[in-house]
Amino acid sequence: MNSIPLLTLAALTGSDDNFIDHASLERPVHRNIVSAWQKLAADARAAGFDLAIASGYRNYQRQLHIWNAKVRGERAVLDTHGAPLDLSAASDWEKIQAILRWSALPGASRHHWGTDIDVYDRAAVPEGYALQLTADEASDSGPFGALHRWLDGRIAADSAHGFFRPYAEDRGGIAPERWHLSFAPLAVRYQRQLKADTLWKEIDAPTLELRETIAQHWPAIFERYIWVPALAHPEPFRERLTVDRTSNDQ
Ligand SMILES: [Zn+2]
Repeated sequence: MNSIPLLTLAALTGSDDNFIDHASLERPVHRNIVSAWQKLAADARAAGFDLAIASGYRNYQRQLHIWNAKVRGERAVLDTHGAPLDLSAASDWEKIQAILRWSALPGASRHHWGTDIDVYDRAAVPEGYALQLTADEASDSGPFGALHRWLDGRIAADSAHGFFRPYAEDRGGIAPERWHLSFAPLAVRYQRQLKADTLWKEIDAPTLELRETIAQHWPAIFERYIWVPALAHPEPFRERLTVDRTSNDQ
């Protein structure tokens, strides 16, 4: 994996997709996760699931569109249980935190890396049902519960071909997203490339709604909503992130 180059700042922030494979899978992903994904999907098939990707690579413009629409109230902002929030009386900082619970800041989404994907069991989608990627769907009693329990077991046994769940638990930032998988061998390298100051300089733009308030709270946003802690990673990858944090905080 070390022969795979690091990403440029433009690629890390969703503005360059020259490393993305748009054709091999049902959604665009980083070209170097395709074979690992195919192995995991084959294992899933053998276990009776049709493991599929609902969302893979997403670019900056797409994420900007989602962000701005939520800030402007053109798109629903949901609470932890998936119910729409009324943000009419919320402060700008409260709005930002509410949106970040479910949506990444444009330029700071792991989906920009092509290493992170939202998954479901295509064989378990009820007839005429529109996929939503909600906690209910992915819960043990939801249509994709069986798939996710199977994935839990694979990840715990270190036999998920490098995939893990960066948002398995509620750390007070991003809501738990059982459907979101990340390919650790690459994502860890890319996360290590993220430096708070550099990242903000790159993604700050006149077109970004609430940019002044984001700038005021940037260190907290970076810690709570962007940086996935070492302990959330599979054991072999933890040390690399811990070491990097202490030596590169400036
Ligand atoms: Zn996701």
